[in-house]
Amino acid sequence: MITVKDLNDLSGKRVYVRVDFNVPQKNGVIRDTNRIVAALPTIRELADKGAKLILMSHLGKIKWKEPDLAKIEAMKKANDMAPVAKALAELMPEHPVHFCPATRGKELKDAVDALKDGEVLLVQNTRYEKGEEKNDPALAKEWASLADVYVMDAFGSAHRAHASTVGVPSILKEEGKPVALGFLMLKEVANLTKCVEPEESDRPYIAVLGGFKVSDKIKVIDSLLKKCDKILIGGAMAYTFKKALGEKVGSSPVEDDQLDYAKRCYEEANGRLLLPIDSVITDKFEDDGSGRIILTKEGDIPDGFEGVDIGPKTRELYKQELLKAHLVFWNGPMGVFEQEEFQSGTIAICEAVRELDGHAFTVCGGGDSASAVKQFGYKEDFSHVSTGGGASLEMIENDGHLPGVDVLK
Ligand code: ADP
Ligand code: MG
Repeated sequence: MITVKDLNDLSGKRVYVRVDFNVPQKNGVIRDTNRIVAALPTIRELADKGAKLILMSHLGKIKWKEPDLAKIEAMKKANDMAPVAKALAELMPEHPVHFCPATRGKELKDAVDALKDGEVLLVQNTRYEKGEEKNDPALAKEWASLADVYVMDAFGSAHRAHASTVGVPSILKEEGKPVALGFLMLKEVANLTKCVEPEESDRPYIAVLGGFKVSDKIKVIDSLLKKCDKILIGGAMAYTFKKALGEKVGSSPVEDDQLDYAKRCYEEANGRLLLPIDSVITDKFEDDGSGRIILTKEGDIPDGFEGVDIGPKTRELYKQELLKAHLVFWNGPMGVFEQEEFQSGTIAICEAVRELDGHAFTVCGGGDSASAVKQFGYKEDFSHVSTGGGASLEMIENDGHLPGVDVLK
């Protein structure tokens, strides 16, 4: 597979770059420009080589099943890409950045035709098109007709076979046009591939899994059990496992339809799947300021209480396991880290990684876990914090395969 480094003689060429500019924003105010910053090396490399850049990305969700057209318009308005174009222009003052509010038709074609070498055009949210998520052939054909070269740099979207991520490159490839990976993609794929194909020197390989739902992550657990030496379980999913093993879990969140799976999985793991030995529990989940009870509990959780974080003994146990590791993959917070009282478990994992101090290759992949790592100030302690939550999990699940990468091969 070729990369942006291999692309030369780009002056006059129209290069379509699928970026991941799905930034957290509200009413046009961008909370975190990380994803834009992460794509800059690829954009700069191409613009410096004289390409005319067409950048495409989705932003947020538009529920096309909604029957009320006014509501669809409101969703579009809430996910307008124009503020992202403004942020990109500020981050990259050396190259002119234009914005095209149209996603199809003459307005888009004219905007592309007007580009001069080294200039950048960010196109409106790809999800303004109903056909995007369905990989509609006519839409992909129209977008592909605008470009001479395709570059994939949207790791966070590479697990989705949409028109902008799979439709366009498959057409361009068929037409014999160059298709390449960007710098961000290369880094993400290389670092996550380590977690998919561990070497002998990576052992012990320890995975940490938390977050909310077991059902979201069943395939990841199965896949990790084949690759890892141990999996440390935290988060709400721990209580589905505990209930499956006959413990009382009070009113902790449990997915009853996953109990059989959890039991079988635990047994097959043969001691390699560790569950919390104690939990932080509370009688009131929502913090409304009026005296809730917070306790630490080993074993059965009493009625009326729910587990909201791993307890101190578990934090210590997991830390000792992590300190032996040579490779760590972490997905999913250990507790309700959004509330200060329930952050300790998630912070303990971060602390263990800090203590490893580069003696292990450490990867965090997951939307909420990555934002916890950043929020608590541990990003620099990890070898790699992925920009794609769903994509990193899917890479682990599917033995390193991603539709948006496979299509380029
Ligand atoms: P990621 O995005 O890193 O893959 P998930 O989306 O699976 O993680 O889960 C994150 C969510 O899980 C967080 O909002 C967190 O509050 C929640 N969570 C973690 N532990 C618990 C728990 N014990 N009870 C309820 N929610 C929890
Ligand atoms: Mg999440």
